[in-house]
Amino acid sequence: MKYLFGPVNSRRLGLSQGIDLLTTKTCNFDCIYCEVGGTSIHTCERKEYTPTAEILAEIDGLLAQDNLAKPIDVFTITAMGEPTLHTGLGEIIRHIKDKTGKPVAVLTNGAMMHRQDVRLELQAADIVIPSLDSARDESFRKIDRPAQCVDLEEMIEGISLFCREFSGQVWLEFMLTKNINDQPSDIEALKRTIMRINPERVQLNTVVRPPLESFAIPLTHKELSHIAEQLPGKVEIIASFAKREHASRRPPEQDEILEMLQRRPCTASDISEALNLEPAQTGRLMEELVDQGTVLKILHQDKTYYQPPH
Ligand code: SF4
Repeated sequence: MKYLFGPVNSRRLGLSQGIDLLTTKTCNFDCIYCEVGGTSIHTCERKEYTPTAEILAEIDGLLAQDNLAKPIDVFTITAMGEPTLHTGLGEIIRHIKDKTGKPVAVLTNGAMMHRQDVRLELQAADIVIPSLDSARDESFRKIDRPAQCVDLEEMIEGISLFCREFSGQVWLEFMLTKNINDQPSDIEALKRTIMRINPERVQLNTVVRPPLESFAIPLTHKELSHIAEQLPGKVEIIASFAKREHASRRPPEQDEILEMLQRRPCTASDISEALNLEPAQTGRLMEELVDQGTVLKILHQDKTYYQPPH
């Protein structure tokens, strides 16, 4: 499938059916920690980058397979880039809600939320997870490397306005990197901004998977906890997978693993956890794929990750 992936066991959302709206990396940011590679189209232009009708047809095809659609906890809209750049976003959210009645979550970098059309389209979702990596312009530019069209103050005001208008939940995520956006002045600015936005939850993350730039260094759990203690509201550390109980593990299938690796590098245990696969068989299959040259093995922070050759 071109746009659907998973379902995967998401650390935050449960069993999540992913929908990726873009097929070429299109984003208004070029984050140093990005897991899907460098930004090819660096833009704030909203348009139908991929045909909405094709995405809806894939969703309908999935829903026609009863046994696949039933266990899904949530449909999660994401993208190889920024999903709010796609003008079909609102229609796609409404289509899923109408057809399934299941919750829809949208992962966004928040940079387009100052626009009324984007906020209106997002209103149809149940959970919106904007990331806001820094409330200080200097560190924001270092970590997210936004396109010229992005304005931090406008973005914060947009997220904050959306929080007041929206009847669903907003979970605000911060991706923290060592010596870039974790300094006392950054934390002070974050505190003030969290109070201004007043999200349902604040989620702290760090660079767990291999990042785009080697200078994007993760914080330790202790450092994240120290920052969490200083922030207001309901603050959670989401930097590792929460283990779920799975009824039964199944044997791995090469295609679904390759589909998942197209979106981000993963360890063998990430793969077996996310796709509910038998761990030993998954480990063996990954080694076979490396031997065939189908995937590459890379070492990051003492863990072995797999990714397709670029
Ligand atoms: S906003 Fe997301 S997709 Fe865009 S560059 Fe940053 S991490 Fe990558």
